[in-house]
Amino acid sequence: TIELLAVDGGGTKTRAVLVEADGTILGEGKAGASNYHVVGAEGAKKTLVEAVLAAFNDAGIEPDHTVKLNKAVFALAGIDTVIDEKEVAGVVQRAVTALSIEIGRLLVENDCLSTLLGATQNNAGILLIAGTGSIIFAHDGNNRIVRSGGWGHRVGDEGSGYWIGKQAIQAVLKMVDGRGEETLLSKLILEKFNFNKIEDLYNWTYSDSYSVDEVGALAAVVDEAFRLGDTVSKRILDAAVSELLLLIETAIEKADIQQDEFDMIFQGGVFHHNHYIKNQVCQRIQQSTTKVKIRTTTEEPISNIIKRGLVLI
Ligand code: BGC
Repeated sequence: TIELLAVDGGGTKTRAVLVEADGTILGEGKAGASNYHVVGAEGAKKTLVEAVLAAFNDAGIEPDHTVKLNKAVFALAGIDTVIDEKEVAGVVQRAVTALSIEIGRLLVENDCLSTLLGATQNNAGILLIAGTGSIIFAHDGNNRIVRSGGWGHRVGDEGSGYWIGKQAIQAVLKMVDGRGEETLLSKLILEKFNFNKIEDLYNWTYSDSYSVDEVGALAAVVDEAFRLGDTVSKRILDAAVSELLLLIETAIEKADIQQDEFDMIFQGGVFHHNHYIKNQVCQRIQQSTTKVKIRTTTEEPISNIIKRGLVLI
């Protein structure tokens, strides 16, 4: 019997780990995107199976019906509504059936909610994700848990990697049109994708190979252009900073946390790779909230999902 399977699934990558009751990691597996808004239900199921299989392989265990797991936590991006909850529960169930493993207690919940609850262990705190998507959850330490943002790549996710990447493509098209300033982004994005001309980039956006994940990866290109002094890129990054601060301010207000000290955790690729964004957000939040002492940290989500699984379910 294995104590826990913890899965962290997002719009770009998915990580699965098998854990013993004392927290020892038995095996770890990785795969691509498992947000079903991004890759569809079938795509998400396949990714989950692949990541979990890789974790079993890594642990040297053959997954079959003789393998029993006491608990599993699937912390997945794309669980935003009641319909999502049902759909994704179905996706996970199909993945578990395909793996032919047996799970005692199974928890399927939004990635941000899951990592926040794991991280704070029911104390007050806030968790902001800016990865491929973006979202914030805050917990007042009692019964109130609030959320803001996270409405996916099509209509939301302001300040996320995808949002930054999309702004970058828009800036290039505006430049080519004569509606926007010259920007280094045009050269750097073509290089990144190995395209010869802007038309190729445009054609790609409506082709079958277009991917949310690859647009999100352009956030790193915007950062590079910014470091080379590109003003258009600086404007995009500053806009992302404003959007992320808006998420934070909204969550603080909605949660109405009474404690004068609590953790604010940052998670996701944008905080790992775009140092300008991280530093700006941290500085500005410290300046604007004098009432509370916020300890800002950047953490790996999987460790908090493990805590969620071991302690709380
Ligand atoms: C999804 C949310 C998710 C967030 C962070 C968004 O695109 O809609 O469900 O929590 O990304 O991963």
